[in-house]
Amino acid sequence: MNILVLNCGSSSLKFQIIETDLEVIEQNADRQLAKGVIERIGSEALITLQANGSSVVKQATPLRDHRAALDYVVRWIISAESKIDGIQSLNDIHAVGHRVVHGAEKFTMSVVITDEVIEGIEDCIELAPLHNPANLKGIYAARELFGPGIPQVAVFDTSFHSTMPETSYLYAIPYQLYRRHKIRRYGFHGTSHRYVAYRYRQLTGKSREETNVITLHLGNGCSACAIKNGESMDTSMGMTPLEGLVMGTRCGDLDPSILEYLSHKEGTSFGEIDTLLNKQSGLLGISGLTNDMRDLLDEEREHQDRRAKLAIDIFCHRAKKYIGAYLAEMGGADALIFTGGIGENSPTIRQRICAGLEWLGLTTGEPHNAQTFGGREGEIATADSRIKIFVIPTNEELLIARDTVRCVKNAPRRW
Ligand code: ADP
Repeated sequence: MNILVLNCGSSSLKFQIIETDLEVIEQNADRQLAKGVIERIGSEALITLQANGSSVVKQATPLRDHRAALDYVVRWIISAESKIDGIQSLNDIHAVGHRVVHGAEKFTMSVVITDEVIEGIEDCIELAPLHNPANLKGIYAARELFGPGIPQVAVFDTSFHSTMPETSYLYAIPYQLYRRHKIRRYGFHGTSHRYVAYRYRQLTGKSREETNVITLHLGNGCSACAIKNGESMDTSMGMTPLEGLVMGTRCGDLDPSILEYLSHKEGTSFGEIDTLLNKQSGLLGISGLTNDMRDLLDEEREHQDRRAKLAIDIFCHRAKKYIGAYLAEMGGADALIFTGGIGENSPTIRQRICAGLEWLGLTTGEPHNAQTFGGREGEIATADSRIKIFVIPTNEELLIARDTVRCVKNAPRRW
């Protein structure tokens, strides 16, 4: 089956076409046929398209909304000019898989999208006001364009964490608030944590039950996950993606009394504080320079910028703290796995996070650490490190495509 995978943000649309099927999954022989991204939907959009084996095509054109953007993508996909293997018409796309950020307690698995599922995703908007409406735009657009004949599937960022026990997901606030408003931790980046745990199993030959790892997804958004016996038992993001690690522009963990204090001191509204903590904090807030880790590392190295160094140090310190906490919670782990733009590409950050954990038997080793970046996968701990360390480039799109096939064919949806 050819699956169109869609990941819609508020003004962006990322897509991939992946050829896969139940037997193909067994053989791990899925093929990516094309990929692309449309940014700045709503104005002069920037379009990047690439069929497998062909060079990148860049275009710019005004695109009014997600429907127009998807229309543009699909016209390119079926055009003679794109030359995508095996795709000549709309009939050659067999299903659409959507990334959906928040599934709350309603969606603990990927599901075929029906009117009822759409209502459910709409109900979750309250919990993810920035993300779910954008994901829904992609779903509405694809339903309109493809019609009812082509099944669509929703894959949720939160689902993988639905196995967390109450001790991990409940906040220590009055229990009625959980009952009344479903205020609890949900966790995000689930598809990424799940993917790297799956790859770890492939690389090591371990079964799901034997999979005891800590995964660190370090990108613009960052989260850690404690995976015990193959299931998420704790994760650092909470009711929203704001909690946990230091991120590009998000603060992560924070004393909640700061909100009241800040509003009192600066006369800011809670809405403004929410923006401050989500968009102006993290690496950007501490450094005062940028949310981009690469640029911060350059500033630190070339200009010895004090606040760039401080931002990086706080970032690494917080990640280390979570590793310690999760090792304690899990009763030890066999491996630490790095993924996401920073985790996959920065040997320095990996080394700085692990520094000082040698006593635990967790040590990055050279030259493996320094040589693993740019999409490479591998083990980077010293030979005698008790806890292995892996770098595994994430591939959420592949999981979305596979879940789509499984849902459409009514096959079990777990690895
Ligand atoms: P997103 O969460 O938006 O998908 P990515 O996973 O692509 O983002 O991660 C983006 C982050 O990865 C940025 O902070 C970027 O600077 C960082 N990054 C990418 N390459 C490197 C590198 N070589 N060294 C350090 N950081 C890097």
